[in-house]
Amino acid sequence: MTDTKHCKQCGTCCRKGGPTLSREDLDLVRQGYIHHDQLVTIRRGEMGYNPATAKLEPVPVELLKIRGQGSGWTCLFFAEESNGCTIYAHRPATCRILQCWQPEPLLATIYQNTLCRADLINPHDPILAEIERHEQACPGREFTDLLEKAAGTEDLARLTELVRADLAIRDEVAKTTGLSLELEFFLFGRPFFKQLAGSGIECIEENGGLRLERRKKATLSG
Ligand code: SF4
Repeated sequence: MTDTKHCKQCGTCCRKGGPTLSREDLDLVRQGYIHHDQLVTIRRGEMGYNPATAKLEPVPVELLKIRGQGSGWTCLFFAEESNGCTIYAHRPATCRILQCWQPEPLLATIYQNTLCRADLINPHDPILAEIERHEQACPGREFTDLLEKAAGTEDLARLTELVRADLAIRDEVAKTTGLSLELEFFLFGRPFFKQLAGSGIECIEENGGLRLERRKKATLSG
């Protein structure tokens, strides 16, 4: 929030993360202003930031967002050198609605009228069957719930199964279709192992496989 009543084009909102796409943005994708590999899917039940509550929470519907730059949050279409949007004339509806000094109109749109992967994929494309296979084997909500408790050995074992299944499906599809990493983020969302960040659970590569381990708490010495 600022004390202005107009956009100063400071770029702060663009640096906080790319927008979520709504049905109004369908033509931006169809007309090629935004490509599939510039999106990341937040699958239903996975953790996402809700600006209305200012909290991370399991998202109730699938969301498509413009990816960040590298491993950061800054919107892919934000140009630091000009402090501007490279698709300004064709920016998504969320960016048009947002007024940082008066956020209520944008907050009212959260989880409403959102685009999902199926809206952007030909219904005859066999990749839809792979997406469904991934959804069945790696449910976002189960992962989130397990991550929140992960108290017992059984929880950790099931989390490990989910992380491995998620990677296995991505690998299989990448091998058979030549899928790029960027497109993978659209088709299957963020890999589970990346979502472990900050959870206190570590993913360790070992003997060509992986295992999960709770991080040991630091102890004071001296
Ligand atoms: S699409 Fe453009 S206006 Fe919207 S967040 Fe990205 S850089 Fe900013």
